[in-house]
Amino acid sequence: MKNNILIIGGGPAGLEASAQLQRMGYNVILIEKSPRLGGHLAKWDRLFPDGVPADDVLGGLIKELNGVKYFTDTDIRAINRLEKSYNVRLTNGITVLSDAVLVASGFDLFDAVRKEEYGYGIYDRVITNADLEAWFKTGSDKRIDNPRKIGFVHCVGSRDEKSGCRSCSKVCCATAVKQAIEVKQAFPEAEVFCFYMDLRLFGRHYEDLYLKAQKEYGIRFIRGRVAEVSENIDGTLVVKAEDTVASKPLKATLDLLVLMSGMRPSASGKAVGDLLEMTVEEDGYFAVRSGIAAGQRSPLPGLFLAGAATGPKTLPETLADARAAAVEIDRYLTEIFPDARNYKQLVRERW
Ligand SMILES: Cc1cc2nc3c(=O)[nH]c(=O)nc-3n(C[C@H](O)[C@H](O)[C@H](O)COP(=O)(O)OP(=O)(O)OC[C@H]3O[C@@H](n4cnc5c(N)ncnc54)[C@H](O)[C@@H]3O)c2cc1C
Ligand code: SF4
Repeated sequence: MKNNILIIGGGPAGLEASAQLQRMGYNVILIEKSPRLGGHLAKWDRLFPDGVPADDVLGGLIKELNGVKYFTDTDIRAINRLEKSYNVRLTNGITVLSDAVLVASGFDLFDAVRKEEYGYGIYDRVITNADLEAWFKTGSDKRIDNPRKIGFVHCVGSRDEKSGCRSCSKVCCATAVKQAIEVKQAFPEAEVFCFYMDLRLFGRHYEDLYLKAQKEYGIRFIRGRVAEVSENIDGTLVVKAEDTVASKPLKATLDLLVLMSGMRPSASGKAVGDLLEMTVEEDGYFAVRSGIAAGQRSPLPGLFLAGAATGPKTLPETLADARAAAVEIDRYLTEIFPDARNYKQLVRERW
């Protein structure tokens, strides 16, 4: 018997887990609610810390799918828990009997409109990190017109009780440093400022990127929270902040302001979680059985989690998590369906 595994979410976590489980000899069905695979990775241009093109990484992940059956534009309509499996009705009319389900529904980007004081959606020249990535990819955005003074605001919608998110999004300091270097490469004459609370550049090579930003590109890092943004009659922006190192208020006129929107729990992931009766924690991300020893197992039998569905993660962390989820699913299925062992052994010997 070949066990069926349903994977919900065709972002990096879902893609990586699908490829691993298919190789292990399972029958994998991957569903993605949007029209294309790739999740947020499909929206990014170059990746920190070393500038690798996101499309190359995504292309590699999709190539590895190798026989995985997948459906785009597909979500979950209904789920029925049976004794040892799940009967899942998809929005494309197909019903899948699945022995294990992996939820890899990822994250949503914080909606910067909610931070009214920064003026996103009000002032033309206030954009987000995602908008800037789109411009790096396509080169087209009327709002980016040879800016001479550019500011980046860290922690937008993260570490902020008012926005309902106390925690750090982990990826936006590194993204800000990467993007600051990239705008400086695009507009060498521009002055670039990063307004931060703390710099959380924890990963390998991240510190090098930060030093490069300062030494090679002259990017200025100002410790202070932006309090308010307003617009001059000519469309330039006035940014008021508190410089917490110099302990004095600061006012700057800028041509472009980039908001580093953080990661939030996925709303469509939550909808699936509700159907599956999964627990979410206070921060809105899915609960796992044990954060240390079983970070990919949900508290429910046969239900697994991978990637940003359980909290902010960088891409390498996401991929490692997906591989760990594949191992956990294999362990679980081997325990629950011991008869399947011989079949899998055969597949592995042939592989
Ligand atoms: C601005 C920004 C820049 C970043 N840049 C980098 C970088 O340079 N380097 C790096 O290491 N990391 C970077 N990251 C982090 C990286 O994007 C994440 O680690 C990665 O996208 C997480 O993958 P995921 O598959 O868990 O989630 P996602 O990428 O969010 O993918 C989840 C997928 O699941 C789908 N889905 C959700 N619900 C359902 C449903 N109900 N049914 C079907 N499908 C569903 C979604 O449509 C989506 O395609 C960045 C993050 C941000 C916010
Ligand atoms: S990674 Fe940096 S910008 Fe993002 S929430 Fe954490 S401290 Fe703020």
